[in-house]
Amino acid sequence: MISIDEDKIFEVIRKRKPASIALNGPEALFPKMQETGKKIMELFDIPAYIIGDTCWGSCDLNTHAADMLGADLLFNIGHTISMETLDKKVIMINAYDDVKFDTIVEKFAKEMRNREYKTLGIVTDSQHLDQLQSSRKILENHGFKIVIGDGKGQLNGGQVFGCEFYPAYNIQKRIDAFVFLGQSIFHSVSIAMSTEKPTFMLDPYFNEFHQINDKARTMEKKAILSIYKAQEAKKIGIVIGLKEGQFAKIKALNLKKSLEALEKEIQLFALTEITEERLRNFKGIDAFVQVACPRIAIDNHFSRPLLSVPQAEALIKVLKNEPIDDFLRLRHWL
Ligand code: SF4
Repeated sequence: MISIDEDKIFEVIRKRKPASIALNGPEALFPKMQETGKKIMELFDIPAYIIGDTCWGSCDLNTHAADMLGADLLFNIGHTISMETLDKKVIMINAYDDVKFDTIVEKFAKEMRNREYKTLGIVTDSQHLDQLQSSRKILENHGFKIVIGDGKGQLNGGQVFGCEFYPAYNIQKRIDAFVFLGQSIFHSVSIAMSTEKPTFMLDPYFNEFHQINDKARTMEKKAILSIYKAQEAKKIGIVIGLKEGQFAKIKALNLKKSLEALEKEIQLFALTEITEERLRNFKGIDAFVQVACPRIAIDNHFSRPLLSVPQAEALIKVLKNEPIDDFLRLRHWL
């Protein structure tokens, strides 16, 4: 069960005495955020607004919504990063899953004992960071050598986002395989794609582990197919995402310049939610490039090719007859 660090929220409210606050987080946490909002209104007698728009990460803060509501503080729930605040108004609040990994890590260690993987890198998402050290101990007790990569930027040691992998990428040459703690194909598959190392997802709910590399290869093939389909496009729409942490106008303008030099006709668009439904409104465009969250293009199906930034950069190489083999082997897909 996931629990929000309410003590920290209450402590901040006591200290900063806001007239109202807003809570923002992933949809899966809305029921918990509703409970927290109710407690805040009862304890402090101030309005607590739950922002119901999507919030995919610390890149998707919704501070405009908090400003419109006149909220003095915005608590961003469940996207643990290495910093406590992102600006004076935004406070990052941990939401940890209390599920334990001991049983699945033991199972993994016993079943993998005689395999070729002797040195393992452990990585996880925001909700399970507190399980890194106990999992490390279990694996070490079974004779594995363990490496946990250092944090960088917003990432803590051993933590990955869906588009940013420094703690995994930077240790890949020192390890034989990655162990991802958590039931998240979204995160584990991207470790496999960015490093090409054998990657195992340890699911504590079903007490199962899976090697995720076949799935990663299928996704990568789909990403490559979109690049080659876009090669034929005469008119390309470049979409700038309007979510504040994903706003990349300069990148969009640079890609425009590069693609125009390769004789593509470019039209610029801006959207908050980049979906098939919204893109369908734009006529006469053969393919799109979007410079917001790369996973929108990599994970989803669109009727016309839609490329993320690394795919768009690969497209430029294809148009110049250069190889694109390692286009996703990056620390960061933006
Ligand atoms: S994967 Fe997308 S939602 Fe997640 S941190 Fe990256 S840009 Fe944000």
